[in-house]
Amino acid sequence: MDQARRHAYLRAMGIVPWVPRGMELEPIAPALAPVPESEPESEPEPRTDPGPQALPARPGSPLVDSPPLRAAAAFEQAMGGDVASLDWDALGAAVADCRACGLCETRTQTVFGVGDRRASLLVIGEAPGADEDREGEPFVGRAGQLLNRMLAAIGLQRQQVYIANILKCRPPGNRDPRPEEVLRCQPYLMRQIALIGPRIILAVGRISAQTLLGTDAPLGRLRGRWLELGPDAIPLRVTYHPAYLLRSPDQKAKAWEDLTAVAQRLEA
Ligand code: URA
Repeated sequence: MDQARRHAYLRAMGIVPWVPRGMELEPIAPALAPVPESEPESEPEPRTDPGPQALPARPGSPLVDSPPLRAAAAFEQAMGGDVASLDWDALGAAVADCRACGLCETRTQTVFGVGDRRASLLVIGEAPGADEDREGEPFVGRAGQLLNRMLAAIGLQRQQVYIANILKCRPPGNRDPRPEEVLRCQPYLMRQIALIGPRIILAVGRISAQTLLGTDAPLGRLRGRWLELGPDAIPLRVTYHPAYLLRSPDQKAKAWEDLTAVAQRLEA
């Protein structure tokens, strides 16, 4: 990637690259211009991603153990075990009709997922917020706009990846997902993962990373290295949630590192 392009990408993510005096670059393309901070705040309430005080990445073996996935599989088995055999249409219908947890009482609609069903990259967030609950699509609020720009920074349009969440329904007030909600929703995500067969999963935010990996390790210890998900050992990278990056723009450089690692692996 040439320097001008790299700088444009960094600027698109809100990172101001250092440029020697007299060598300033052209203004960035309007499509990549930063999301105005003054837009009305309609994102989920700040969630508690660990910030800069998080522990540094710990070298070691990848996390292949994923208790939530095993628990979800056991749950699904107990419920009849048919989600794992559904095709896309049947899975979409099952999610739309789902009443497996209390979130069905408060949702406007379910938020299934969006994008290329054969995508190399699967992005997994936490749960729908107010915008997503209204529109029925993940990551459509301010955090979603930043996510789009983060993807654009590595040359990917939103339509080229698949985007889903741990939960298909909005938790009231954007509270953290409860364990039983995660457990009951997990078969749907597992089936989406199986149908897509992604080369790489990008877990955005603490809840997504901890749920997928079956750990309560802080996000700062999970990002910065390649991990693996499930029995197929799908390469998984963790990064900060865009809602967190909107509140803590000083962490965008780390997110850029995460995305660069993803881009390099996709190109390999
Ligand atoms: N945050 C998420 O984690 N997912 C969404 O779809 C929207 C906001």
